[in-house]
Amino acid sequence: MIPAAAAVNMRALKTPEDTIAAIATPIGTAGIGIIRLSGPQAWAVGQRLFRPRKDRQHLSSHQLYLGHIICPETGKAVDEVLVSFMKAPHTYTREDVVEINCHSGLVVLERILHLILSHGARLAEPGEFSRRAFLNGRIDLTQAEAIADLINAKTHKSLELAGEQLQGRMHQLIARIRGDLLDLLAYVEAAIDFPEDDVEYLNQTDFTERLRSRVYEPVKQLLQRYEDGRILREGLSVIITGKPNVGKSSLLNNLLNSERALVTPIPGTTRDLIEEGCSLRGIPLRLVDTAGLHPSEHPVERLGIERARERLSRADLVLFLLDRSQQLTKEDAHIYQEISSKPRLLIVNKVDLPPHPDFSELTKHFPGERFLQVSALRGDGVEELKDAILETIIGERLDTETSLVAPNLRHKKCLESTLEALARSLNLLESNGAPELLAVELQESLAHLGDIIGQTTSEDVLDQIFNQFCIGK
Ligand code: GDP
Repeated sequence: MIPAAAAVNMRALKTPEDTIAAIATPIGTAGIGIIRLSGPQAWAVGQRLFRPRKDRQHLSSHQLYLGHIICPETGKAVDEVLVSFMKAPHTYTREDVVEINCHSGLVVLERILHLILSHGARLAEPGEFSRRAFLNGRIDLTQAEAIADLINAKTHKSLELAGEQLQGRMHQLIARIRGDLLDLLAYVEAAIDFPEDDVEYLNQTDFTERLRSRVYEPVKQLLQRYEDGRILREGLSVIITGKPNVGKSSLLNNLLNSERALVTPIPGTTRDLIEEGCSLRGIPLRLVDTAGLHPSEHPVERLGIERARERLSRADLVLFLLDRSQQLTKEDAHIYQEISSKPRLLIVNKVDLPPHPDFSELTKHFPGERFLQVSALRGDGVEELKDAILETIIGERLDTETSLVAPNLRHKKCLESTLEALARSLNLLESNGAPELLAVELQESLAHLGDIIGQTTSEDVLDQIFNQFCIGK
């Protein structure tokens, strides 16, 4: 028997005994609000409070019933509702589920929830429905994470990534790699258990080659796609900087097609950071208009400049603006120096105005730089700028199909630990190390891969993941 195989099901799947309930839609006035119940008592609680319009002896699973929620103590109707009763296992949680579609008013929702809680259910914790779906084996951990990604998706490309993960793309890939690793581990375990037997084992060269090509390389390639995932989940951070009045706020507005930033002819009015999200050809972008990075005596402005510096250090790209109608100054040179270590584009703004003579020899002042000519006021060159932003930061990388399986930060850490253990395994093979040591390293790789899909994941990590969900999900 292969010890690692036992590790696969190490975490006992606890089936909760209690029934949970929560409002599943945002609180506020709207046409419909949904309250969800899940657990062994869900149907009983639902039936205690629901009076169907037509007298029914029997409620069928996965049917929608019209009726009223009644307060059992007073017999009074609280709301007219549509209720679906769903029998396990074909439900979101794989438990019995009841969903009450009522009217969405704060008092109505809270009144019905209160009735449910006083008739046999308890309030669900954040993410508890999804946690149960995971614990009952309906989804793996990457799919649970995909649900959160899907809810928080900022653009259609982020949504696509979450959708693929929800369908199990990441799970399948990890399961495939784990399967290959388990096969290899079986050879090692057999060699340890039956060293004298004349069993036909893989020779060392074939073993090493299989471990490298079917396990080590795919893990390494997957790890390389972390950056794609980060871009799609979190978005690119783009800083707009330049001395006061070069047109930073105007450019931000133009890129956003909105009027979020304050545009005024008085220098230094953007004292704090203005951050806005938008979608650039499906890629989420976080645009930050800074107070500039110029030296200042003004205390509030200095605070803004400090924050701008901090954001600059984390930025994926800097758009450095110059005002073509004005002389280049020491301030321009100072800011240019501040951003010299970052990926950047130099934007020559106000091309609708006559150029200052300084701009006839720009490359002399900024050798080797890429310049883009724009008019933030009129919009000239803004489309080209958008293309240049994407080209500079991501190039072709997100056009490929493979980028639709991309690890998040948690997966990345697990993959890094996997890769380290695999590298040690390959070293052992090269140095003819003891099979017992090799088995330990392979088991460790297996466990780290198992963490990704939730087969060997600790309660703490599960708490961390599911606590980020909203209540009712
Ligand atoms: P910031 O201080 O760098 O954020 O600059 P603003 O965006 O507030 O712009 C300062 C002034 O320059 C405003 O009066 C804008 O209307 C003007 N401005 C910005 N971009 C352009 C442009 O491309 N052409 C012209 N003619 N004026 C511009």
